[in-house]
Amino acid sequence: MESTEKWNESIERVLAFLNSRGVGFEKGVDRLRNAEEASRFLASAFGKQAVISSRALGELRRLRQALLDLVATGWHDEAAAGALNEVASHSPYTIAFRGDQEIALQPVHEGAALSVLVRDVAALIDAGQWNRVKHCSDQACSASFFDRSRNKTQRWHSFEICGNKNNVAAHRARHA
Ligand SMILES: [Zn+2]
Repeated sequence: MESTEKWNESIERVLAFLNSRGVGFEKGVDRLRNAEEASRFLASAFGKQAVISSRALGELRRLRQALLDLVATGWHDEAAAGALNEVASHSPYTIAFRGDQEIALQPVHEGAALSVLVRDVAALIDAGQWNRVKHCSDQACSASFFDRSRNKTQRWHSFEICGNKNNVAAHRARHA
């Protein structure tokens, strides 16, 4: 059983990963554009220094695109689902039994960012929380966020930034 704190870590990692494509003030800056930059990004997001091979970089980019497509389509993208399963098949785990209340899935290749991310996604799905991962409805923003609203109706990654902007624009359009 996963604790809430663990989940929050999973959410933060998944969001950082999805937004590594360059959103908001980092618009146009892909943190996975090359192995060196990707390794810096993973160190800041995962708290681990990692040397990324070009193959691992390709897999990370593939995983990110698959997840973005699955979020955008509400999991109605067979190619993306196939890519996710393909990436996951390269991420073997062992089960660690920590007591009669707790198990942990541990990546066989300890510290592999790809395995950690795949496990994070699996944990969110298993907990029925994946459909809270969304893209901001502001087209220019499109940042990925986690909808913590009770009815899962949040549309903006930040109401202050994107919600207000769009409501003002809609208001102006109505009164034009
Ligand atoms: Zn936004």
